[in-house]
Amino acid sequence: MEYNGIIGSDGIVIGKAYIYKKEMMIINHNTIDESDLNEELNKVETALLLSKSQINEIIKQATKEFGQEEASIFDAHMMMLEDPELITRIKEMIIKEKIHSSNAANKIIENYIGMFSNIEDEYLKERTADIRDVGNRLIRNLLGITDQDIGKLDSDVIIVAHDLTPSDTALMDKKHVKGFVTNIGGRTSHTAIMARSLEIPAILGLCNITKKVQNGDVLVLDGNTGSLSVNPNERTLLEYQDKIVRYNNFKNKLKDIVKLPSVTLDGRHIEIAANIGGPSEVDSALKYGGDGVGLYRTEFLYMDRDHFPSEEEQFEAYKVVAEKMEGKPVIVRTLDIGGDKKLTYLPLPEELNPFLGFRAIRLCFEMRDMFKTQLKAILRASIYNNILIMYPMISSVDEVIQANKVLEEVKSELRAKDIAFDEKIKCGVMIEIPSAAMTADLIIKEVDFFSIGTNDLCQYTLAVDRMNEKISNLYQPFHPGVLRLIKNVIDESHKVGKFTGMCGEMAGDPVATLLLLGLGLDEFSMSASSLLMIRKIIRNVTLPEAKKIAEHALTLSTSAQIQAYCEKALKELNLMNQEE
Ligand code: PEP
Ligand code: MG
Repeated sequence: MEYNGIIGSDGIVIGKAYIYKKEMMIINHNTIDESDLNEELNKVETALLLSKSQINEIIKQATKEFGQEEASIFDAHMMMLEDPELITRIKEMIIKEKIHSSNAANKIIENYIGMFSNIEDEYLKERTADIRDVGNRLIRNLLGITDQDIGKLDSDVIIVAHDLTPSDTALMDKKHVKGFVTNIGGRTSHTAIMARSLEIPAILGLCNITKKVQNGDVLVLDGNTGSLSVNPNERTLLEYQDKIVRYNNFKNKLKDIVKLPSVTLDGRHIEIAANIGGPSEVDSALKYGGDGVGLYRTEFLYMDRDHFPSEEEQFEAYKVVAEKMEGKPVIVRTLDIGGDKKLTYLPLPEELNPFLGFRAIRLCFEMRDMFKTQLKAILRASIYNNILIMYPMISSVDEVIQANKVLEEVKSELRAKDIAFDEKIKCGVMIEIPSAAMTADLIIKEVDFFSIGTNDLCQYTLAVDRMNEKISNLYQPFHPGVLRLIKNVIDESHKVGKFTGMCGEMAGDPVATLLLLGLGLDEFSMSASSLLMIRKIIRNVTLPEAKKIAEHALTLSTSAQIQAYCEKALKELNLMNQEE
């Protein structure tokens, strides 16, 4: 059987299916008979023992992978379970109210969380996330739920899941996960973006694929076309094995231009940079010849743990990236949490429209100390390289002014303590909200550069959720409305001699390269694995040729026409032959 979905990350892989399911916690709210009391009380003891041994195992793993200090967070989890009062209260409630153990545990945990949430002290408030974590573990064990652990696998697999959160992707066993497919999700969801960074082929939005595939089925995942074959016949398997060889040859051939500059045929240098999620991705950026880092998504530093990273931890991470890039520019984006990116340890109220909600810079303004800590760490690391700062989710000039004020405050504090930083550090904003794109002339006065975030700019301009596979046909970066905004942003920055880059996924789409080049884009930033293809295109065209293509594209009325025209223009360059 063959199924088609949305391309998440390119590459072809053949492997065995591993179904990854996360069972829901369903609390039983019925009352129990007197005769069941003992069984429920025994369950508490058994679940307690199991939870303790699981935490012991986590402590061992965490100490090995991250060191003693990081692992000590889990000591607090253990202490909570060792507190006799917690267990006594759960048991007393079971006896008094004649309710199921999971229900009693849930009520007591909620009580604890309520008490901690009302405390003024920020540190103690943050501990509510720990209580929830331990509480959920205990309740899941009471309900007999056994979670699969994709962080530790024994053999190579292709994960098949309803959805994978960015934290699932961050934690999964990179050695053995060779690909993944999901029921839901879109091309610019962060799960897809991470798959591209990790160079793991992925297909998303395959609807009910978890119901159609079984553990151990042989899967052929073609991330270049979005097709998934389940238990294919011998002939298809051989065809794909051959395809894998040809694709790998094509990719290898591209490596010939790793050391060549990104210049057009008429000599204009264009910066081709990488998007990264952390220090571990710098090697890949360099391997593919990145001219810099055009987007460092710092939120991943906050996501792969269960507490806020300290100033020192952040400083170390930014410094490592800066040093490894050896003088090439590194654009560090300040925390962009919210939307599909959540922090387990920062409980935020549920929102009806999280992508339009309390996120990114909006959250940073409210959590000012956290924002200042991050800015301090970035500024301190700036002495090691050409670091630039960038704010996400800017919707108006006042927000830029407000953010810059905080930045100036942090700079003064560092000066007062004689702590060095790059006094000439450049600061820019992401243009990913239509109001910012339309007021680019006003915003550019307050900053040094723009970087266009087409992932969000498309979803907000077209009112199309970037995560929703049902409407992915409406998610059109080539829409004339989006292109006009992009053109406006580039033009306004050029009028005052400043530059505009792009770090949304469109920048890594070969079909868009000639058009964007012709619109005057100065920098393209993308997943590292796309860098060489884009460089190859740029090296095979002159700027006037690209300008002509952009001018014509802007006269067309529909996304389909524009995309088809750009595909034709690219084909005429004759660069995309994977048969070589
Ligand atoms: C964007 O919105 O285009 C972008 C690069 O940011 P993110 O994908 O992290 O939202
Ligand atoms: Mg964005």
